[in-house]
Amino acid sequence: MEKKVGIIGAGISGLLAYFPWPDSVTEEFPNQHQVLDYVHSYATHFDLIKHIKFNTKVVGIDFEGSSNQETQSCSIWDGNGEPFSSRGKWKVQVEDTQSYSSKTYQVDFVILCVGRFSDVPNIPEFPPNKGPEAFHGKVIHSMDYAAKDYVSAVEYVKGKRVVVVGLLKSALDIAMECSIANGVENPCTVLYKTAHWNVLDYLPWGLPLGYLYLNRFSELLVHKPGEGFLLSLVATMLSPVRWAFSKFVETGIKRKLPLRKYGMVPNHSFHQEINACLISTVPKNFYDKVEEGSIKLKKSLSFSFCKEGVMVEGDDAPLETDLVILATGFRGDKKLKDILVSQTFKDNMVGSHNAIVPLYRGCIPPRIPQLAVIGFSESLANLYTSEIRCRWLAELLDGTFKLPSIKEMEKEVSKWDAYMKQYCGPYYRRSCIGALHIWYNDQLCKDMGWNPRRKKGLLAELFQPYGPMDYVSP
Ligand SMILES: Cc1cc2nc3c(=O)[nH]c(=O)nc-3n(C[C@H](O)[C@H](O)[C@H](O)COP(=O)(O)OP(=O)(O)OC[C@H]3O[C@@H](n4cnc5c(N)ncnc54)[C@H](O)[C@@H]3O)c2cc1C
Repeated sequence: MEKKVGIIGAGISGLLAYFPWPDSVTEEFPNQHQVLDYVHSYATHFDLIKHIKFNTKVVGIDFEGSSNQETQSCSIWDGNGEPFSSRGKWKVQVEDTQSYSSKTYQVDFVILCVGRFSDVPNIPEFPPNKGPEAFHGKVIHSMDYAAKDYVSAVEYVKGKRVVVVGLLKSALDIAMECSIANGVENPCTVLYKTAHWNVLDYLPWGLPLGYLYLNRFSELLVHKPGEGFLLSLVATMLSPVRWAFSKFVETGIKRKLPLRKYGMVPNHSFHQEINACLISTVPKNFYDKVEEGSIKLKKSLSFSFCKEGVMVEGDDAPLETDLVILATGFRGDKKLKDILVSQTFKDNMVGSHNAIVPLYRGCIPPRIPQLAVIGFSESLANLYTSEIRCRWLAELLDGTFKLPSIKEMEKEVSKWDAYMKQYCGPYYRRSCIGALHIWYNDQLCKDMGWNPRRKKGLLAELFQPYGPMDYVSP
């Protein structure tokens, strides 16, 4: 019998399977226009546009069928381990964002591809009367700034004393644009809590980073979730090499960027940064702008708002400001939670606040039936990660393999939780597979019945970086 699958979100996670890039794109890092063209040509090639309902927001999904108690007491996913079941269907409530009319769809399986870095901003909390309400200027989130086109963004910041809060990709890009718009007359202040190993390029000392972090040898240097005794022993014995790789990259970054001069050398290792998927590319000339004084870097463990601007902890006077842009990230976990109607499923989706979001293989919430998530767990290159996950999920829906018991899935999730806690410090909740992508892909390959060894020859297998082209065909 025909089954209906509802995919919520039409970003890269909601669309992808393997599709070659056009010959015109030769860059290792295509720009936003090239990525957009690629996604367009993908959707056109596979005739997907007719399946996409634009200007439509899913306001809630509710499982109709077996009761919450029944679902929670199952020992295998949805009672039979199958993605499709006669036990229930999802009711998907949608709202037309232009006419505000609503409609309900019924589907057998839901794939949530709602994105982790959009829509729901992470806004810091402030004591009463010390938040944005106390400030006479404007406070926006980086997503509001990003929603403007280039010209209106420049006009918006022009002539204003801007404070950007944060030090990852959005903060770096926005600070750069403000400094270009305002020069040294109205410098842009970047308030940051933690310095990061942001990079200018991916070639420390001229060596591609992939040879240090994206091959099987690099994965031998860390303890992996579910590894056996031998691999654990190898990882322990090779831990000095892991340390040396990290130092090698750190010194390479310090050689290219004046981190010491501006007190921007992080206290944590590059190894932690890459394991937590925190690496951002610094815009070219960013530190030239710091040098000329159109960007000011200011460490601030905490700050609050006052009438004139922001009050940085430890300072005597406020930093006078017209506009504060919070580049403080997103609450992707809240987005996943909010879309579910059932409180039990909301709790199951995000799990405990001191553990990673429980997703088996980064995709399946073990205690929510007939549902998968793509694009929450992240990597250093999400197109690649979503692509292989979409393939894995398609094979699951096709019946190529079955999921293990709920207990087994939860055991697997807790192994990844332990791995994240071991290597990512306070950032363990970021659900990042970046530095263990091959180990992770091996598991997907084995599930699908593919050979996980994708290279020709032992040396290539051990030392050549892995990437999307290695997984083009089974
Ligand atoms: C500043 C910045 C730089 C980044 N740079 C990189 C990079 O260089 N490389 C990289 O791999 N990743 C990067 N990322 C991460 C990037 O967000 C993801 O790689 C990519 O966008 C993920 O695609 P996605 O499809 O999972 O999510 P998204 O692109 O966020 O797409 C999700 C879609 O779902 C829709 N949606 C959400 N909720 C609903 C709903 N309720 N109903 C209907 N539709 C809904 C949204 O409107 C959106 O269209 C960056 C992120 C930021 C913020």
